[in-house]
Amino acid sequence: MAFGLLTKVLGDYNEKELKKLWPVVDEINDLEPEISALSDEELGAKTEEFRERLAEGEELEDILPEAFAVVREASSRRLGMRHFDVQLLGGMALHQGKIAEMKTGEGKTLVATLPIYLNAMEGRGVHLVTVNDYLAKRDVQWMGAIYHSLGLSIGVLQHESAYRYNPEANLENASLRYLEPVTRREAYAADITYGTNNEFGFDYLRDNMVTDFELSVQRQQHPHNYAIVDEVDNILIDEARTPLIISGQADETEEDYRRFARIVSRLREDADYVIDHRHRTVSLTDSGSTKVEQALNIKNIYDTQNFRLTRFLDAALKAHALYQRDKDYVVRDGEVIIVDEFTGRLMQGRRWSDGLHQAVEAKEGVSIQRESVTYATITLQNYFRLYEKLAGMTGTAWTEREEFNTIYDLDVLVIPTHRDMVREDEPDAIYRNEEAKFRAVVREIEEMHAAGRPVLVGTVSIEKSEYLADLLKRTSKCENPDCGDYFRVCPLKEPEVLNAKHHEREAQIVAQAGRFGAVTIATNMAGRGTDIILGGNSERLAEELAQRRGHNLVTLPHDEAEAIRHEAHEIWEKEHAKVVEAGGLHVIGTERHESRRIDNQLRGRSGRQGDKGSSRFFVSFHDDVMKRFAPEWMPSLLARLGMDEDTPLESGMVSKAIEQAQTKVEGYNFDIRKHVVEYDDVMNRQRDLDYSERRKILEGADLKANVQEMIEEALTELVDNFLSDTPMEEWNVEGFLNEVKAIVPLPDGFTAAHVQQQLPDEVLDQLLEHATTLYEAKEQSLGSETMRALERILMLTTMDRLWVHHLTALDEMRQGAGLSGYGGQDPLVVYKSEAHDMWQQLMSYIRESMVHSIYYATLTQTPVPAPAPANVREIGPDELGEQAGSGTAAPARARAAGGSAATATAPAAAAAPAGNVRKVGRNDLCPCGSGKKYKRCHGQAA
Ligand code: ADP
Ligand code: MG
Repeated sequence: MAFGLLTKVLGDYNEKELKKLWPVVDEINDLEPEISALSDEELGAKTEEFRERLAEGEELEDILPEAFAVVREASSRRLGMRHFDVQLLGGMALHQGKIAEMKTGEGKTLVATLPIYLNAMEGRGVHLVTVNDYLAKRDVQWMGAIYHSLGLSIGVLQHESAYRYNPEANLENASLRYLEPVTRREAYAADITYGTNNEFGFDYLRDNMVTDFELSVQRQQHPHNYAIVDEVDNILIDEARTPLIISGQADETEEDYRRFARIVSRLREDADYVIDHRHRTVSLTDSGSTKVEQALNIKNIYDTQNFRLTRFLDAALKAHALYQRDKDYVVRDGEVIIVDEFTGRLMQGRRWSDGLHQAVEAKEGVSIQRESVTYATITLQNYFRLYEKLAGMTGTAWTEREEFNTIYDLDVLVIPTHRDMVREDEPDAIYRNEEAKFRAVVREIEEMHAAGRPVLVGTVSIEKSEYLADLLKRTSKCENPDCGDYFRVCPLKEPEVLNAKHHEREAQIVAQAGRFGAVTIATNMAGRGTDIILGGNSERLAEELAQRRGHNLVTLPHDEAEAIRHEAHEIWEKEHAKVVEAGGLHVIGTERHESRRIDNQLRGRSGRQGDKGSSRFFVSFHDDVMKRFAPEWMPSLLARLGMDEDTPLESGMVSKAIEQAQTKVEGYNFDIRKHVVEYDDVMNRQRDLDYSERRKILEGADLKANVQEMIEEALTELVDNFLSDTPMEEWNVEGFLNEVKAIVPLPDGFTAAHVQQQLPDEVLDQLLEHATTLYEAKEQSLGSETMRALERILMLTTMDRLWVHHLTALDEMRQGAGLSGYGGQDPLVVYKSEAHDMWQQLMSYIRESMVHSIYYATLTQTPVPAPAPANVREIGPDELGEQAGSGTAAPARARAAGGSAATATAPAAAAAPAGNVRKVGRNDLCPCGSGKKYKRCHGQAA
């Protein structure tokens, strides 16, 4: 069959790749006698030797076998774990920048140490990315000893803190054991850094909001050298539809808008401001500026420290002078509604940007809708594409290999298991309705429990978990005679329920989910990354024993600790044997997920490293997947079979139909994610440009020539618009002079009469010369260094301020792009071209803003950073558990059903109240890392 042929071909590819790696495994094994003969010190000295060899021109590949052998030896000595041969294969795949598919329990945590150590030799930093803070911390506490004994430093990022591995630190505190607090920057400077995708991603975004390199945390050189992403399918696929967003809502602006509306309402046309109707612009006269400055009680509105005010002023002035009620807009039910200037139609729901809408609302005295602005955003896809080398590991990648390949250019290599997999996957049991299905689940749990087998039940949501737990409590009967020896209360009556909320505590519970007769109910993602050992975890048991006797296992003298460990091990061995005899861990799925991958992850919790075990999914025709995708013939088939509620249908045909449906949905979701990338690519290029420009500025670029060029362009344009392109008798010389004055103070004697007597070219020449002279004069009086600094600060604040507006507008447009049809045009094409136009506009806004402030600005104090309102929120796939596992199956589908990339961004915001939001309070530290309170830093400006 064609399909069989296809898998064979792909299988061959995998075999071929593995065949190339096996000889290296032999090489590593051959080095073992020599390496294991080294003293601890000699082993540690290998690191320096490798560095030297690299410095002398050897490649990482040259030292790979020896480096892997060294890590293996260090691990044997420190952790008592000697990397299996297949783990060496996995390590090589990771080093090659591939995805290593290794089943749950194969020891991926340990696998990663091999390529991490090897690549850290280059000194450019290596990142290991985990799905939650707890796992980042745990992995460092666990693997840290290996790296540390080899002389490498290890940092770990947590949501609001960072640590360095130090074997002496915090021994008393199990949660922070071996961890010493450091700054985030220090954590990044370490040879190796562990952290979640969100922490890495948000740090990147925040680093590009700082106004001083000193405040950035990621490395300056090769900030994104090499990353290994653990549970890579989760991060790059499940989470890929939710971008990281730093956004905020204006907090103080309402009052600002009202204040400026009051101020400008007292200004008079011609005396205080002039309107250029042709260009629909308005500018203040000297008298106008003075009045505004008096009203605000400031000296110079154009001074850098008053920067944020000019934005309100601009908007208020426009609203006052240019926008007329019932012509440009109407006020209805307390709302300002735009009137389309060509058709006269009301444009419900549309809003002017750049604060104009708010200014009009203030002018009309209606309630001001708070601004929501996007400060920075990036999709996880694009964040991880920043890495020079990217690798990943997971138990389930093969089904998504095409996506990994097209989007991330990542190959998947399936690594064989250390021992043969003997788990039995039983066919699905299919029920007519959900009640019958859950009754059957309860019966199966009862049976397993009676036999002493531990059961892990996966549900699709927290509600379902609780429903099942409640059903168990009410209806189950314990028939296990030994239950009382192991549990105070029978687990049927008190099952453990996990919902991926408290990773650390849940890890403790899941670690014991393999105990005799245990019953654990969990959403799909809960306790992920924690190993389920049959009979429980003996190290944890030892800690418990020690604790019960008033000791701490880690600080106890070695002999005493070992005695307790021994005791615990004996208890464990007995229980382990009983659980194995009973048949090992049984996994029950209570619904099929949209994606086969998620189902496979759940099954994979059983049967680790050759353990006995089994799994079964229970399905009903009321399940979402079935309702949407089951073939229509299925229910009628069941009816014909005369099936009663409680008799399951076990049909290979039905299972196959479900899998086909899943394949379809997977393809569909892949398309959506591809779409997100296409949209994000547009923004990505612009972000790259913006970020690299601001980097140059932060690095101290000399902007003099750029600024002068901007001035020249602006003046030339004014002369063209007002004079050259207009018949002389229509010249608006007053308007012209006002515009010029807004840029540069006029030369002496440069009156309307004077202009009238010149040719446009002469006017331009005189103005340009004057502009240059004045520029030099300003430079003379400030000193060159200060002038350069002034240029940079102005440019940076201008760029940041306008970039934020640009981003917000782009985001809004993207969300709108999928919704409106654009008369049959491809929304992506429209989006691209509009985004391009907006970029051009951004450039011209930056120029406008620069030329209008450079002559008038003075450097009075430390610059005010880019304006940003209070209540900054960081939105991202925070709790991974929520996404693929609990509760959000529905929104995920809503996204899928939306069918366009545009809708993909919406759930990020919509999901916000559910806990994916990071809010910065006014008194919290500013997210830019300045160390100042938020309200004194980014939160200060609007
Ligand atoms: P994965 O992330 O692949 O699911 P883990 O890294 O959590 O697996 O490891 C699973 C279990 O396997 C852990 O209990 C670990 O101690 C054990 N383990 C991994 N590698 C080895 C090894 N080489 N020797 C002994 N035990 C190992
Ligand atoms: Mg793991």
